Amino acid sequence: MTKTLDQLLLQKSFSREDLIRLLSVKGDETQKVLNRALQVKTETVGRKVYLRGLIELSNICAKDCCYCGIRKSNTKVHRYNLSDEEVYAAAEFAWKKGFGSLVIQSGELIAPAFTEHIERLLIGIHQHTNSELSITLSCGEQPYEVFKRWHAAGAHRYLLRIESTDRELYNQIHPQDSLHSYENV
Ligand code: SF4
Repeated sequence: MTKTLDQLLLQKSFSREDLIRLLSVKGDETQKVLNRALQVKTETVGRKVYLRGLIELSNICAKDCCYCGIRKSNTKVHRYNLSDEEVYAAAEFAWKKGFGSLVIQSGELIAPAFTEHIERLLIGIHQHTNSELSITLSCGEQPYEVFKRWHAAGAHRYLLRIESTDRELYNQIHPQDSLHSYENV
C-alpha cells in the first residue's frame, strides 16, 4: 500500500523511494515537509544558532581538479596567503564574539613547510584564545602522519571533501595523474 505523506513524515528512517517522494513534493505538500523539518530540528538541537568562524587561509593548491576555481592551472586567480598575524587576529575576533569553533581552510599542499605552518598556527591560535575555540581543519588529503601532527597541535576535527565516490565520475572531473587518485578517496 502506498504511504501517505503524513505517514512518511512520521518515520525516523527512509528508503530510497521515501526520499524520492519527499524530494519531489510540490505546492502545499512542500510546506508540510518544511514544517516537519522545523519540528524535528527544534526537538533535536533547539532554536539556538551556533556561530562558526571560517578563515580562508590560502587559495594556493597543488592540485588541478577540473571543477575548481582555484585549481593550479587557473592563472587568472590572484593567489594569497594570510599572514600568521592576520590569522590570529581573526581567531581572536571569533573568540571574543563568543564563537564556539573555527575552521581553517586552504588549498592542498603536501610539503613539510606547509605541515609546519599549520602546526604553528594551531598552537598560536590556542595561545591567543585560551584554548577555548574548537578548531576544524580543511586542508585537503594529507598523509596519516600529518593528520596525527595536526591533531597533536590542537586540531579537533577535519573536513575532507570528496566530490565523487563513483570511480568513473571521479576520473572525469580530475586529471589522470598520481596527484589525483581515486584510491585515496
Ligand atoms: S584539491 Fe580542493 S582546492 Fe585544490 S583544486 Fe582540488 S578542489 Fe580545488
